Amino acid sequence: MNATSTAPRDADCGAPVVELGLPVIGGSHHRSSAGTAGLDSSEASRSERFAQMRAGELGSLHSWELVTAVDGPGTRLTTFLSGCPLRCLYCHNPDTMEMRRGEPITADELLARIARYRPIFEVTGGGLTISGGEPLMQPAFVARVLRGAKEMGIRTALDTSGYLGAHCTDEMLDDIDLVLLDVKSGIPETYRKVTGRDLQPTLDFGRRLAARGTEIWVRFVLVPGLTDAPENVDAVADYVATLSTVSRVEVLPFHQMGRDKWESLGLSYELEDAQPPSPELVARVRDQFRERGLTVY
Ligand code: SF4
Repeated sequence: MNATSTAPRDADCGAPVVELGLPVIGGSHHRSSAGTAGLDSSEASRSERFAQMRAGELGSLHSWELVTAVDGPGTRLTTFLSGCPLRCLYCHNPDTMEMRRGEPITADELLARIARYRPIFEVTGGGLTISGGEPLMQPAFVARVLRGAKEMGIRTALDTSGYLGAHCTDEMLDDIDLVLLDVKSGIPETYRKVTGRDLQPTLDFGRRLAARGTEIWVRFVLVPGLTDAPENVDAVADYVATLSTVSRVEVLPFHQMGRDKWESLGLSYELEDAQPPSPELVARVRDQFRERGLTVY
């Protein structure tokens, strides 16, 4: 997720497998040590739950929110799944990073909730947005929810860093109308500093989306002193300009509204002294994207 709201928002197909030090549930690359501790205490039901999670019948959910004018067109039901392989320094919802902090929910339960909002989606041109955390931590669950939404005629969006794009099957992409792709930096060293992970999987996923014609909204979080270097923004903009299916770029100014969550979780927050970008800086960065012919918000 893009992590600029205080609501949780910011992860088989022939694509390369991304090796993680963290569990991934479902898909063909799940790990038996998937992080469901806390979902159940009994051994028998725990293994049953693992099986359900691998099958995509059960997921770990942080929360959901009905939103308008963010997370895609129209009014959206945005569902925030738990678990994320990145550790963004500016994450405004660090409580979504660990899958074990989520609540178990079946795909059927979630789909029943989604179904209630169909009339609103139809009137507003909205739909379902699956966010996190990183939704592709639970690919089988996401695949099942996407399929169910599509069977109800609901438009869908996936909000992802792209780091686990290799876990998104082509069948899943057939059920996704829009990808909100968070490109957190354009220079690999900066990306690693911001997220603790490699940039390349995100670049690969964006190119795969463009090659198959999937619409993309790119999101870039602007943090003074961290992501604002002109050469870093140029690198993001140069990359985005090569993706033919990008219909908008959102430059999201960093703010401090998530700071208290880090403290309440006992986590060290490195951006204590970071300031929101000035209007002049935001304008400069937006212009860097516009210079490449991109539509910028
Ligand atoms: S750590 Fe994960 S949930 Fe937080 S901003 Fe980064 S990608 Fe989003």
